[in-house]
Amino acid sequence: MNSERAPGARAPAWGFTSDNIAGASPEIVEAIVASSTGQSSPYGADEITARVERRLAAIFERDVAVFLVPTGTAANALCLSTMTPPWGNVYCHPASHINNDECGAPEFYTHGAKLVTLDGPAAKLDADALRAAARVKVGDVHSTQPACASITQATEVGSVYTLDEIAAIGEVCKAASIKLHMDGSRFANALVSLGCTPAEMTWKAGVDALSLGATKNGVLAAEAIVLFDTTLAAEMGYRRKRAGHLFSKMRFLSAQMDAYLNNDLWLRNARHANDMARRLTQGLATVPGVEVMGETQANIIFCRLPKPVSAALVQAGFQFYRDRWGPDVVRFVTAFCTAPDAVDSLIAHARDAAASPRA
Ligand SMILES: *Cc1c(COP(=O)(O)O)cnc(C)c1O
Repeated sequence: MNSERAPGARAPAWGFTSDNIAGASPEIVEAIVASSTGQSSPYGADEITARVERRLAAIFERDVAVFLVPTGTAANALCLSTMTPPWGNVYCHPASHINNDECGAPEFYTHGAKLVTLDGPAAKLDADALRAAARVKVGDVHSTQPACASITQATEVGSVYTLDEIAAIGEVCKAASIKLHMDGSRFANALVSLGCTPAEMTWKAGVDALSLGATKNGVLAAEAIVLFDTTLAAEMGYRRKRAGHLFSKMRFLSAQMDAYLNNDLWLRNARHANDMARRLTQGLATVPGVEVMGETQANIIFCRLPKPVSAALVQAGFQFYRDRWGPDVVRFVTAFCTAPDAVDSLIAHARDAAASPRA
């Protein structure tokens, strides 16, 4: 990668806008190619899909129902559609992807269920706020009714729920007889951050349905709906087809998920992304005038950068989002393929800019 550079020269600028600007891991592309020869039963009745189902049952240490879909939005909206009637409340954080970034897909797929946002620090749903909300106007025909809650692990700001926090929310859901969904678009990043088992982070803490993301962590396009509450499975089958998300040549989605879960690729990719985020915050924290905001728990970080520093980084070709979260606040997202020397180069550019007389 850096063989063409003179010793000591900096790596070229790199994009840190999001983890979906990355390509795919070679193992994924090779698996698609390998699965493309020969004939295979359609619509998920093939051997690779069966293998993915077995792998996920082993990984989660229990029976699960698995439905592969191409996008996280489809996974989330389909999950929610099996967990609420049209007159239900879906409790979520105001910063959640389902609330901000899915163009109303949850409302559309649920036939108009109501997203009720409940605030909490670090983009995490607060268990006490949920307990209080799930008691409002229960049984009142004039009001939408408590149906489910949705939490994002890791969250949209890169924080990670502890197991106790998930379990507390799970308890509230159980007591209120509502279901719990987890948007795991960055599930692997959270998992390796906590160092727990997939079972502990989900059904053992009360999660009924998981959108298991893979695309942002090295897959080309595949996400798994994993149902721990398998009573939702029959309905999910019809809903996925009706939504146009039942792939005819399912083996190509399954081949990706199979390779993703094989040999711990998903965990290795997530560890690398998280390591690169930590490397970036540790480096930036030593640059005068830079304030790293919050703890680096996964692969998304927020910093306050002096304007000359962010201008210099942009000038050098680095890409990242800014001006969306308040004055001088910028976001960096690392991925499975983020090069360490690109991170070091960003830090070096930031240090130079902070030291220049204009800063
Ligand atoms: C990226 C993302 C998704 C899925 O997005 P798609 O573009 O539909 O694949 C879901 N939830 C969160 C938190 C995300 O960041």
